[in-house]
Amino acid sequence: MNERLLREEIRDVPEYVPGKSIEEVKKEYGLKNVIKLASNENPYGPSEKVFEEIRRGDWKLNRYPPVEVPELKVRVGEYTGCNPDQIVFGAGVDGVLETLFKLFCRKGDEILIPIPTFPYYEILTRVYGGKPVFVRRDKKYDVTAEMIESRISRKTKMIILCSPNNPTGNSIPNEELSEVLESTSAIVIVDEAYAEFADWNALSLAGKFDNLILTRTFSKAFGLAGLRIGYGILPDWIVPHYMRVNPPFSLGTLSISCALKALEDLDHVSRTVEKIKEDREWLLRKVPFRAFPSQANFFMMDTTPYTADELSEKLLRKGIIIRNLSGFRGTDGHMVRISVGREEENRKLIEAMEEIA
Ligand SMILES: *Cc1c(COP(=O)(O)O)cnc(C)c1O
Repeated sequence: MNERLLREEIRDVPEYVPGKSIEEVKKEYGLKNVIKLASNENPYGPSEKVFEEIRRGDWKLNRYPPVEVPELKVRVGEYTGCNPDQIVFGAGVDGVLETLFKLFCRKGDEILIPIPTFPYYEILTRVYGGKPVFVRRDKKYDVTAEMIESRISRKTKMIILCSPNNPTGNSIPNEELSEVLESTSAIVIVDEAYAEFADWNALSLAGKFDNLILTRTFSKAFGLAGLRIGYGILPDWIVPHYMRVNPPFSLGTLSISCALKALEDLDHVSRTVEKIKEDREWLLRKVPFRAFPSQANFFMMDTTPYTADELSEKLLRKGIIIRNLSGFRGTDGHMVRISVGREEENRKLIEAMEEIA
């Protein structure tokens, strides 16, 4: 073992701590029934067309997948209303983000990150030698153009806005976003992993600014988290550079075909999205704690009078896994994030919380 061989940038990289799995909780707490409302997945899964496609077989898995996926570009172009030439793919939004960091982040570059937010932005920043500049969101967890502009310096290379924001659930208004885009030549990444659940999105700005990048995914609304497929909507000038740097076979054969099938059944997506949004509002009315409004398939909740650790533990004992946010930068140990599940799961959650509160 010789840890001095590691790049020094790696030393400050925080560990990504995933939540407990259903199997772990069953074993540890001796429970038969455990539900997981912790990872913001679509509880209804993908369209039946996806399963038909998988069963079709004949996958030629000994062969490498294609490097270019023109049909998928066209379909995603139709879905988003963007020019297909602006669309690039990666192994989830995570993969797209990593390639963008490879393109832009040099040692000492400042990366502006409003917090609390998705922890992987900080991990990538540190891995690539950047300096995260954390902008604390206001009391309602909003972030304004003014708050961001006041932290922009000559060294600011990228600004990463998650909208709707994981874990707080709110979106940045397009007026604020436009103001940020106009005030800087730094790259502004808007991570729209949850766009399908939101009241608005930033697509209308995508062709208008040559420093705006949107990232989106098949993991959340499309129910394909296990297949690792995400995309970026880039300004034209970045596309060829992205293509040179992104790993050539980042999308698996199965992922490409299943994403195409999922896009053929947008009815399934809107049906499940509408159901999840309805149930989110139901949950927000029912929870006996202070919950924050949300535009995503999850919501954040203040666990006072308990700590987040205490409430998470009490729910675990009842067979319910939620996301404890105490490890998230910018929260105070009293916040949890809860994903909207199936109806019966949501009912079980409310019953359990009523017994605790
Ligand atoms: C889940 C999530 C991702 C990861 O998406 P993948 O496409 O599965 O990599 C990215 N950003 C945010 C904010 C997320 O919550």
